[in-house]
Amino acid sequence: MKTAVITGASRGIGAAIAMKLAKEGYFVAVNFCKNEEAALQVVKNIRNAGGKAEAFCADVCDAAQVEKMIQQVLDISGEINLLVNNAGISSHGLLQDMTEKDYDHIFDINMKGVFLCTKAVLPAMIKQKSGSVINISSMWGIAGASCEVLYSASKAAVIGFTKALAKEVGPSGIRVNCIAPGLIDTEMNACLSDEDKHQMINETPIERMGAGEDIANAVCFLVNDEQAGFITGQVLSVDGGYII
Ligand code: NAP
Repeated sequence: MKTAVITGASRGIGAAIAMKLAKEGYFVAVNFCKNEEAALQVVKNIRNAGGKAEAFCADVCDAAQVEKMIQQVLDISGEINLLVNNAGISSHGLLQDMTEKDYDHIFDINMKGVFLCTKAVLPAMIKQKSGSVINISSMWGIAGASCEVLYSASKAAVIGFTKALAKEVGPSGIRVNCIAPGLIDTEMNACLSDEDKHQMINETPIERMGAGEDIANAVCFLVNDEQAGFITGQVLSVDGGYII
């Protein structure tokens, strides 16, 4: 049985990815930071559907917690075939109102978390001579969003990380790719007004918000060696055509 670690899988996009991978036959490590109850519910849903999953608490920006979580997963499963770096936070406001603390917080989770989790799984993947890392960036990491400068910059950093690491670990049989979601219907967008959402939907050629399942389907494509075995270092936009 293949093993996938999904960071930030207690809700939203991460939970949808966890559910889909479990249906595809993966043992899924459902990572969460604060919301244990929600993570346990995701695990329960997976098990009720006949899948295999376990919840693991770790703050992705804490190296010791990340290393402990990855070791716990390896103790259970022996190998890690897929890491999805999904945990992330957004922040809204004018750049001149952002503090150094805001900067550290958003980069700690959105970029340092990707670095720490990837660094922790690589030794096992290099030993196996196979594996896949999929990073969840954002369309704003490609295009940049007004009033989301730090978020956009952190997500652009994830794209740079993806491309460089793909070159470094390709010879070890590891593929590294990135997904750039558009507007997805999760709690992250709870702060948007209905008017804002409608405006964005109007600017989306596919004329709807995305669902977590849209991103989960893209993960399943990218991890599949038969379908995507020659794809690495790429950014797959899953945004209904918002950024073309
Ligand atoms: P969400 O509903 O707010 O969920 C965020 C998840 O990240 C939660 O499971 C949360 O777990 C976890 N998390 C936050 N900080 C963490 C930390 N320090 N360590 C471990 N886990 C942590 O967000 P979402 O909409 O599903 O977004 C998932 C990813 O997609 C993010 O990287 C986001 O930037 C990206 N994205 C989202 C959209 C969108 O429109 N929704 C668009 C583009 C990109 P706890 O609650 O347990 O802390």
